Amino acid sequence: MLCKIGEVEVWRILDLHGPFMSPTELFPTAGPKVAQIMESVAPGSICDISGKLILPVQGFLLITPTHRILIDSCVGNDKTVPGFPEWHRRSDTRFMSSLGAAGLTVDDIDYVLCTHLHSDHVGWNTRLEDGRWVPTFPNARYLMPAADESQQKVRNGELYVESVLPVIAAGQAELVEAGHMLGDFVSLIPTPGHTPGHVSVRIKSGDRQAIITGDALHSAAQCWHPDWHFKFDVDPEQAVNSRRHLLETASEAACIVLGSHFALPSIGRVAAEQNAFRWTGLLDS
Ligand SMILES: [Zn+2]
Repeated sequence: MLCKIGEVEVWRILDLHGPFMSPTELFPTAGPKVAQIMESVAPGSICDISGKLILPVQGFLLITPTHRILIDSCVGNDKTVPGFPEWHRRSDTRFMSSLGAAGLTVDDIDYVLCTHLHSDHVGWNTRLEDGRWVPTFPNARYLMPAADESQQKVRNGELYVESVLPVIAAGQAELVEAGHMLGDFVSLIPTPGHTPGHVSVRIKSGDRQAIITGDALHSAAQCWHPDWHFKFDVDPEQAVNSRRHLLETASEAACIVLGSHFALPSIGRVAAEQNAFRWTGLLDS
């Protein structure tokens, strides 16, 4: 278990972990020294050999007293993602092993929440069975941001056809808006900008709280530098506003922050400092 927030167990479900792209490409407004800055405030972010950002792709499994909820379903197997060779048509067992380590099978998941509809957050929504894409989690309701679904439906690319449409066709999809409550312990915080409907996740149990960032941030370094643009933010200025708002919320609540793509162990706290936020990593909570 990664941590416990009141009555809610949080487990890391890791799918991939490795060098992704160069920080100068990913953070185009951060200046030429971005790699050094990142290593100074978020050690372990940059690969020594390639100089690329090390990107974990992970979901978080929440075991509440009433539900088993998977936040983000990562890259998955067999998916068509030619733009990212390491994500393309994979065949890997790490994700399922992580689920097994938490003592669960695919049958046990009640909800899958996609913080947004990008390839590294929807992959295990489905799996190939006899040449057909079928929902991986047969008993789950799948929650997806409505604005992202509209956008991907128009695009009608592989992501939609392979990882979204089969869930809708199976009658398991629920299109949601931010503010949605998922049982008594989990709610969605609007953080548009990375995608139009992007949501982050709040876990609240008793007097304890945690926030799962999704892709409102991609590195702990963005706590210190929330104004950096990110290459794949569809609306970078809106993303900056959402990032600042999320960090304010986390700072005011003094809560645990789980950074979906932060360098492992991806868990810490933030505190307002000058015009930004200090990140303090935690090994345990
Ligand atoms: Zn992502």
